[in-house]
Amino acid sequence: MRRTPRGYCPTRLARRSLIPPLVRQLKDPLGLGAAAQSRRSETLEPRTLEADKVVKSVCPYCAVGCGQRVYVKDEKVVQIEGDPDSPISRGRLCPKGAGSLGYVRSPLRETKVKYRRPHGTQWEELDLETAMDMIADRVVKTRDETWEATNDKGETLNRTLGFGVLGGATLDSEENYLLKKSFTAMGAISIENQARI
Ligand code: SF4
Repeated sequence: MRRTPRGYCPTRLARRSLIPPLVRQLKDPLGLGAAAQSRRSETLEPRTLEADKVVKSVCPYCAVGCGQRVYVKDEKVVQIEGDPDSPISRGRLCPKGAGSLGYVRSPLRETKVKYRRPHGTQWEELDLETAMDMIADRVVKTRDETWEATNDKGETLNRTLGFGVLGGATLDSEENYLLKKSFTAMGAISIENQARI
């Protein structure tokens, strides 16, 4: 006999619909069982049902690190839910994490580098290579112009106050390690992370 995805038998459903609603509710006074379901909700299917693969991940939004299950169909993300196996979040996600699907699929997602020139009033799109070259040029120039080898007493400093780095809570340990290491190597001493502030 055909059964719906939730395991209900259509014949049984039809028979149950003949029972007056009040009787059904009295049989389930807490209102948590089948009596509290509408006919529409009885036929609802989980929105993750269409997926052909589930990948475990971690919410990228903040340092709490809630576990996520990423549902994939035909190599495309179709849904993202909380992971009940996560000891951090036990299946829960805050509104930001619960909206993760939008980061992947939103038509408003920015995928190009945006640049506004000094005194410019419009954003321009740059290719990534050009943008990276521009950043590197500025870092080298600023470092050269602001380098402090010694102080007034002749004591060694070997530093620059010309630039610093402020890491974000979305960065993982490895990214923060690389940021700290690379900026320290360049002589920066203003190195901080938003998660600590
Ligand atoms: S679900 Fe919310 S609390 Fe959890 S990691 Fe994501 S943003 Fe942070």
